[in-house]
Amino acid sequence: MDEARMKALNAGANMSTGGSNFDFVDTSKLERLGITKYNTKKPKGNNFIRIVAPSTTGPFAMEIHIHTQIGSGKSTFLCMKEMFNMDCPICNHAQELRRQNISSDVINDLKTSRRFLLYVVDTTDVASEDEGTHWFDCPPSIYKAVCTLSQDRRTGEKVDPTDPVDGRDIEFTRKDGKRTEYVGFVLTKTEPIPKSWYEDLPPFEDILLKPDPDEMALAVSGVKATPTTSESAGKSSTEGSRSRRESREPEKETAQEPLEKETTRASRRERVSASDTQFESTKEVVEDSEQAAVIKAKIADVQSRRRRTE
Ligand SMILES: [Zn+2]
Repeated sequence: MDEARMKALNAGANMSTGGSNFDFVDTSKLERLGITKYNTKKPKGNNFIRIVAPSTTGPFAMEIHIHTQIGSGKSTFLCMKEMFNMDCPICNHAQELRRQNISSDVINDLKTSRRFLLYVVDTTDVASEDEGTHWFDCPPSIYKAVCTLSQDRRTGEKVDPTDPVDGRDIEFTRKDGKRTEYVGFVLTKTEPIPKSWYEDLPPFEDILLKPDPDEMALAVSGVKATPTTSESAGKSSTEGSRSRRESREPEKETAQEPLEKETTRASRRERVSASDTQFESTKEVVEDSEQAAVIKAKIADVQSRRRRTE
């Protein structure tokens, strides 16, 4: 084969297909129902939304834990362990790297991110309202702000922001900088909302995509250690002991600094969904394009098998 053609083939096999994969929810089912993803990237960062709930009882959002941007395919998966209390290939892989005293950056990128699944209507204007209901993988900071502010300003009484008659419209501003922040939350009482916004919304459980463990294992199999350079190997012993401590006690650290870690993860994730091309992976993936192509082919095979069984 012509060398240039071979080069083009390899480049094609390894290119990013643009896009974060939202494969933790059943996007095809949602699209059939006319429910597309909500994006907080708006003119001047100004967001106006109304949260709608699939049911009048219980929580109006579902907490989810996802592994994002895994492997060369940059796949996103629900964590099997945190979501289904089952063995999670990605958590297991992270544990194995930790056991090998691998660079903590690689391990950090395998950790789960917390999100809250919501249904929202963009209430910016009539045209945005006409787009209908969207699904939104809401960062914890937005969810917390909404819950905190959900009270009647005069009486101080808690209100249900999703109530079709007594609920609230929510506005906030997205600020993109070194990290994305959400500020200026205001909840406003408005006219009752139309039934079409919240009628027949599928329960969150029905839109989750339970991942295939084989697919997860394949995706994460390319994520490996940062090779230790002679420079870093020669670093002081204190640094060495710090990374060993990090690799031994990741859960404890996460528990002590949940907010900070969450913000970091949330902002990274937001950057990804906002602009795929700007995403710079810090993950060490398989360098060898042939091996990457083999893994991709296996993933495609697993996916097609899964589709056939559905
Ligand atoms: Zn996991």
